Amino acid sequence: MGLTERVALVTGASRGIGRAVAEALARAGAHVAVNYRSDATGAAEVAATVESLGRRSLVVQADVADPAAVQAMVDGTVEALGGIDILVNNAGVIRDGLLVRMRPEDWDRVIAIDLTGAYLCARAAARHMLRKRFGRIINVSSVVAVTGNPGQANYCAAKAGLLGLTKALALELASRQVTVNAVAPGFIDTEMTAALGLAGQVAARVPLGRVGTPEDVAQAIVFLASPGAEYITGQTLLVDGGLSLGL
Ligand code: NAP
Repeated sequence: MGLTERVALVTGASRGIGRAVAEALARAGAHVAVNYRSDATGAAEVAATVESLGRRSLVVQADVADPAAVQAMVDGTVEALGGIDILVNNAGVIRDGLLVRMRPEDWDRVIAIDLTGAYLCARAAARHMLRKRFGRIINVSSVVAVTGNPGQANYCAAKAGLLGLTKALALELASRQVTVNAVAPGFIDTEMTAALGLAGQVAARVPLGRVGTPEDVAQAIVFLASPGAEYITGQTLLVDGGLSLGL
């Protein structure tokens, strides 16, 4: 995929989709900074895998909702790995509840991590990308940004916000060859969805007949980071097995 000597920062890479993305980017040739918030052991395992593939890695603890921590994370990545070419805004949480029961702190936390976190990381990374006249920013949204989902008003709003952010940044950064795209996964088998216990029920509604894997999403992200995608910006790639088509 031609990512040799590129440097990537993947947020929320200690497990799930972020972990698969970090490992797939390394397989494609990139050095990878592995961000996590609380799971230091998981992040260290991912970094060890990256290094076993012959790439350099950095484990970097930061809450993406904290502006100072994000700045330090990006500065630390540039210093340790020599730059930042690819940013994958993957970190995300859910705090589900029907509107009348959704507490303001559940609303605020999801917006802070899933939406503001991406803005903070993009802002810090874009300074380096603009100077280098190269960059790839990939935001991990969700199919529910397009379809909506009862009980997820905060999450749907944050993930739909990411699609607007993607388009605005694509226009702002295009003249310096920095592309900004989004992937919108459907139902992917990770810890986030395991807790819901809905995999069997959802799989029956997916046209391709199964729920997604973290690798399914990682492959789409590697493509958007690769030279083959250099003329694509401001777009959203749904990785949902056709789920949204039938809704
Ligand atoms: P997951 O298994 O719950 O993993 C979430 C990751 O995000 C963990 O590595 C976690 O790190 C990290 N994280 C959480 N809050 C953070 C923060 N404030 N700062 C930095 N890192 C933080 O989730 P997943 O299923 O892989 O989801 C990854 C992304 O895909 C999310 O944005 C999610 O919304 C999106 N997505 C998932 C699905 C799905 O079906 N699974 C569908 C559509 C979209 P620690 O554990 O170290 O805190």
